[in-house]
Amino acid sequence: MRYVKPHYYDNFKCIADKCPSTCCAGWQIMIDEGTLEKYSKEKDEFSHRLKNSIDWEEGAFFQNNGRCAMLNDNNLCDLVTAKGEEFLCKTCHLYPRHIEEFESVREFSLSLSCPVAANMILNEINKLTFLTQEDDLEEPLIDEFEDFDFFMHTQLEQAREVLFGIIQNRELSADERMAHIMTLAKEMQLCVDNGEIYKIEDIINTKPDVPPITPHHRYENATATYMLFIELEILDKKWPEIISELKHNLYDISFDNYSIIRDEFYQDFVCFLSIERWDIFKEQLLMFFVYTYFCGAVYDDCVYSKLALATFSVFFIEEIIISTWLSRHKQITFEDCIEISYRYAREVEHSDINLNTLEEIFMERFN
Ligand code: SF4
Repeated sequence: MRYVKPHYYDNFKCIADKCPSTCCAGWQIMIDEGTLEKYSKEKDEFSHRLKNSIDWEEGAFFQNNGRCAMLNDNNLCDLVTAKGEEFLCKTCHLYPRHIEEFESVREFSLSLSCPVAANMILNEINKLTFLTQEDDLEEPLIDEFEDFDFFMHTQLEQAREVLFGIIQNRELSADERMAHIMTLAKEMQLCVDNGEIYKIEDIINTKPDVPPITPHHRYENATATYMLFIELEILDKKWPEIISELKHNLYDISFDNYSIIRDEFYQDFVCFLSIERWDIFKEQLLMFFVYTYFCGAVYDDCVYSKLALATFSVFFIEEIIISTWLSRHKQITFEDCIEISYRYAREVEHSDINLNTLEEIFMERFN
């Protein structure tokens, strides 16, 4: 088995009650079957409280005002206090660690939705690197990977390496890099659709004609796609407000108004921060989404939508940042940008319904 993880992965440490946005609130925490069974057999003093905190039909912890029933007023988990971390269900034990499984490869990442992880990902100035380890201790589960397309996975892994090179090419602007990978995304998807997966290797190494992103194109794209958020499941009650503020602040008046606001944001906040640093912020976001999701196309053949999700996410995180800057009287900090990024990830990445809906829409547009 080969194991891959980002270079910062092992440095993660949960800050528990110091967390500005605990993961124990805002979404339903599902409990795996093995842990449910273990909890059901508990007979000690704490077991009464534990059993009453579980919705046994749903297999999830109850919530009080959107907070997990185990979370106390000091933002500490009573289950951990009473029984220790090893007693947590798989979801709580793992988060914010995320695992993507392939036939003989296991890829680890940290979820952008955790504030500590988001800080680790987005405060990094150096190019993201990965640590790889290999051993013979674990054999792939043959049954689970019966239909696994090993050849396609190899092609995707090689393509992702090239994509990483494009995303981390700091001689280009982040927007030029995004346009480049979306041009390749279209061509790679055509290979998959035509059953010519072997051609991905050639395509990824060509230098395609990349159409420049004009301000008009950006505006049309933004006004057409922000509507997508309306179709998504809402996890944070404040999210619809953020989206309607985005529409009101940036899109409702006119293209000229949109362009003026964007230019002013760049001249104000981005120039203050430095264009290079802003592009690195977008680069790290892109790297996160492409590393975490791209090779999953081996399971659904949707190469295009994986890259569309990555560029869409970077694009919209920036749009929400600009809208927030405007709402706050043209004031924003880099820390606010990180917060907007993890809030976006909570809304989009942490709902399978939302991820699938977005991918379906991107694939429909491609077709
Ligand atoms: S969101 Fe991250 S830092 Fe905050 S409580 Fe959860 S795991 Fe810990």
